[in-house]
Parts: sequence; structure tokens; C-alpha cells
Amino acid sequence: MEQPHHHKREACRLCGARNLECVLELTPTPPANAMVPAKLLDQAQQCYPIDVYFCESCHHAQLLDIIDPSYLFEEYVYVSGTSSANVDHFRRYADQVIGVAGLEPGDLVVEIGSNDGTMLRFFKDAGMQVLGIDPAQSIAEAATADGIETLPEFFTPELAERIRREHGPIKVVVANNVCAHIDDLESAVTAARILIKPAGVFVFQVSYLLDVYEKTLFDTMYHEHVDYHRVGPLQPFFERLGMKLWDTYRMEAQGGSLRGYVSMAESDVAVQPSVSEMMAQEAAAGLDAPTTLRNFARSINRSGTELMSLLTGLKSRGHSIAGYGAPAKSTTLMYHFGLGPEVIDYIVEDNPLKHGMYTPGLHIPVVSTDALYEKRPDYVVILAWNFAEPIISMHRKFTQQGGRFIVPLPLLGIR
Ligand SMILES: [Zn+2]
Repeated sequence: MEQPHHHKREACRLCGARNLECVLELTPTPPANAMVPAKLLDQAQQCYPIDVYFCESCHHAQLLDIIDPSYLFEEYVYVSGTSSANVDHFRRYADQVIGVAGLEPGDLVVEIGSNDGTMLRFFKDAGMQVLGIDPAQSIAEAATADGIETLPEFFTPELAERIRREHGPIKVVVANNVCAHIDDLESAVTAARILIKPAGVFVFQVSYLLDVYEKTLFDTMYHEHVDYHRVGPLQPFFERLGMKLWDTYRMEAQGGSLRGYVSMAESDVAVQPSVSEMMAQEAAAGLDAPTTLRNFARSINRSGTELMSLLTGLKSRGHSIAGYGAPAKSTTLMYHFGLGPEVIDYIVEDNPLKHGMYTPGLHIPVVSTDALYEKRPDYVVILAWNFAEPIISMHRKFTQQGGRFIVPLPLLGIR
């Protein structure tokens, strides 16, 4: 079926092979961040497939259904500087990059998908020149006004040529939580290659498939994340583009991330043991075989069935049920498990910007957490379940007054 703002690719994003097998079929959803204001509730939202394909050649897991990035990202609202844990993470990260790349005051650092410039600010404070690139217009404008010059563009070879003409080749290009967002990753990496010196580095950090798999983070799978990266398929990808992935780290950030350092193939930097060690861990977990993700899909579906039978039972006995948290990933969780308005009355949320809005597609109202004490729902399903512990501690009063939290994953529990 022809859908607006959508196309389906036919070849693997990393190796170009066409033998791709669908291993994990999630329920189609609208774009996960497309919260709806009251005045637009009468407009139906288009749902798009979230089918994860496994490449039989390089074993890379990916989506082939692509929503146009201009439609998805130009209105993007996620702002990275907002949580203090994030800010600390970027400070340490910037220090590591300065050391590895031998950055000196005056050197230019370019970041792709620089968002509000949180990380670039640490480079700037250390005396470097910085340039952000982020297609989200309003975020780019705000970052520029705040002293971090940010081009509101997609990172292409043409843009890289332009920057190189102006500044010469540079030592570092950084890409945080953006490599999984780019349909034409080859073009973005080629652009980085154009921009960096022979001895320069391309540093990226992405959500790590091994963590998604081990921690059941399937709800991080939505249209913005077209790739589920790990070292195994990335290593030959960079090699094909004349580069080498020479150091990798497993990080706690974003529920589990992979950080990688890449240089030109001809650079004399030594490949660290971490690269083959992480590849061995991925192979040991079974990620080189399509059956592993097929079994993962079955286990997710069992969790959903179990949760829904609990919730529909509670509902039929007359209990009220609310949700907690409306992050982008709750869209995947709610659609795939069937958590619609017939089960969830409303969602409480910490972020005041979301109050008064409705969830994408399902149109469940989002309200302030005050509702826990004013409306007193009997049960609250924690949709932002990766934050279950802090949420439960923050709302002891709710449970003391007889309310109960339901934690849906990784194991269903009532608290
Ligand atoms: Zn492939």
C-alpha cells in the first residue's frame, strides 16, 4: 500500500545485500514522538510498519520501512541537555575524545545530530572551535543563539566538502545517538571521511543491540531507529568504506550503548582487542543467527499476553488503571501489547510540555502526576519501565495510600 512520507528499502543498510529476512514484526504505529494536541484529535494518524529484518549476509538487524527524515526530524523536540545524568556522561565522553584524538585549543570539532549542543559545549570550554549539524530547525536555532553554531541541515558529502573548504580537514567528527537514525548511513560516513584528516577519528555512539536483546528493550524499536547496531556487522561496513573500526566500548548510556572509534584504513593506529572481544560476545549471545531474534519476538509476545490478561482482569473487576510516562518508546509498547483507551484511562507524566496532549494514534490523555493523588487510580502501569525504581521511590505516598504500580518488563510485577 502506498503511504505518505514512507518508502521501503530493499537492500541491507550496511552491506547492500538483498537477502533480508523479517524476524520481528511489531505492531505498526504512527511516528513515536507524534503527540497530539486536543485541536487535532479528529485527524486520524497514519500507522507505519515496524518490522525488523535480519541480513543473511552481514547479520545486521534493521528496519526497511523508512519514514521520510524531513517529516520525522525537522520538528524534533528531544533536547539532550535536560537530564543531569546525560550532561555528566557527555563531559566524560568529551574528555576521552580530547585525549584519543589529541585535540588542542583552536581545533574544530564537528558533531552530527548535535541537538542542543550539550556535548559540543564541553569541547568549547576546553578551547576548541565547535560546529553542530542538526536538521531540527528550532533546536539548531536555539543552540546557535546559545553560542553553539549549528547548521540546520542533514550531514551529506556536499556539506562535508563545504566545511572542509572553509576549515580544512579536521581531527574529529562526533556522532551521538544519530547513526541509528540515518537511512543513508553510507553517505553520512562518507561525509565524515571527507572531512577528517588521514590521522583523524570518527567517533560514534549508538544504542547497542546486545543490550536491547539482553534487557528486553524492544520498545526502543520505532521508526526513528532504523538500525540496531553492534560491532559484528559494523566492522566490515567501515572496511568497505576504506575505514577501520579500531576501538569499541560498551557504555551504560541510553539503557546500553556501543561507542566506536573509526579511522582511515591506512592509518597506523592499532586495532584494540575490544573489537574482537565484543564481536565474540555478540556471537555467543546468538546474534549472528536469525532464530535468536525470532525467539526474542516470541518472548516479547508472551510478556504482552501476560500483561494484557492481568490488566483486562483488573478492568473487568471494576478497577481504574492509569499509565506512567509517555516517552517515544511507550508508543511501541502500547501498540504492540494492546494498551489502548479501553484499558488505560490516562497517563501521568513528569514532563509538563506533554501535559494536555494525547498519545500518538491511541489518543490517551497525558496529565500531571498530581492525578496519582487527585484521581487516585487503583493501578498504574509504568510505561517508562526502565525508570520503574526511581518512579516507585518518588511516589511512596501513592502506594501507602493503597495504589499499586504494575511493572510490565522485563518481568511482570505488581508493587
Ligand atoms: Zn547486510
